[in-house]
Amino acid sequence: MAPPDGRFAPSPTGTLHLGNLRTALIAWLRARSRGGRFLLRVEDLDRGRSRPEHERSQLADLAALGLDWDGGVVRQSDRGAAYAWAIEQLEARGLVYPCWCTRAEIREAAGAPHGDAPEGAYPGTCAHLDEAARRAHEERGRPAALRVRGGAERITVADAALGEITGVVDDFVVRRGDGTHAYNLAVVVDDAWQGIGEVVRGDDLASSAPRQAWLARALGVAPPGYLHVPLVLGPDGRRLAKRDGAVTLADRLALGEDAVGVRSALAASIGLCAPGERPTLAELVVRFDAALLRDARPLRWDPVAGPIA
Ligand code: GLU
Repeated sequence: MAPPDGRFAPSPTGTLHLGNLRTALIAWLRARSRGGRFLLRVEDLDRGRSRPEHERSQLADLAALGLDWDGGVVRQSDRGAAYAWAIEQLEARGLVYPCWCTRAEIREAAGAPHGDAPEGAYPGTCAHLDEAARRAHEERGRPAALRVRGGAERITVADAALGEITGVVDDFVVRRGDGTHAYNLAVVVDDAWQGIGEVVRGDDLASSAPRQAWLARALGVAPPGYLHVPLVLGPDGRRLAKRDGAVTLADRLALGEDAVGVRSALAASIGLCAPGERPTLAELVVRFDAALLRDARPLRWDPVAGPIA
C-alpha cells in the first residue's frame, strides 16, 4: 500500500505564527517519515480576508524552515467547478436543502442546546418547509444557503493522537447565500481529489472531523485519517496571537534567531530534540514519532522565554 500523503492547508489571511508553523512542521514530518507526499493547498475561499501577499509570506516561511511540497500549490479559488459538482451529487441524493434563516433567527430558534445536538447546531427551521413556504421565501428574493441533511447522526472518526473523535452531524452549511462554498465542503472535496491519506491540523478543527467524514461518505469518497495536534497558546493561556509579541518567523529573525533555531525550538516543543540542539530536517524525520503527540498538552509559548513547560 502507498504511504499516506499529507498536506498543509493554510488560509492566506495573515502571517503564519509559531503555532501554525509548528503544525506545518508536524504535518511535514508525519508525511515524510512514512514516505508519503506532502501537498500544499491555499484555502482562499474567504475572498474578503485572503490576500496574495499573505500567501507569498506563508509559502516563504515554510520554505525558510526547509519544508518542501510536492507538485504545485492548489488554490481553492480555482476549484469552484469541483465544489459545484459535489453540490450536484448531494442534490441528486436529496441530501441538501435551501435555508433562508438569518444568523439572528438561528440563534433565537436554537435556544439552549438540546439532546445530542452540538451547541450552535442548526435547529432545522428550513428542513421541512412545504411548497408554499418555500415559494414565499423564493419570492422575497433573499438568496438561500444550502445545508446538508445531517440527520443528527453520531459519527466517530479515528485520530492518531486523540484516539476517537465523536460528533453529532447537524445540518451544516455547504454553500453560503452569497454562493461561496463552505470550508467543510471544500476541504472534503480537495482532500479526496488530492489523495490525502491523513489530515494533520490544529485540534481546534477536531470537532469538524465527524462532519467531514459524514460528507466524504455522502460523496462516495474514502475519508482520510486524522491527526489533530495541540495548539500553541500564548503566555496568558489563550491561543497564540499577534498580541503575544514576537510570534512570527520574521519577528524571531529580527531578534537575531535563525530559521534553523526557530525550527529546532518547535521540534523541541514536541520532544524531538533538546532545547538548544539544532538537528537537520533529515534527523528530525528519523526521530519523528506520532506517539509523542498523544500525550502532548497545549504548548505555552512565551515570546521572550520560549516554550513554557
Ligand atoms: N484552512 C484552515 C486553517 O487555516 C485549515 C483547514 C484544514 O486543515 O482542514 O485554519
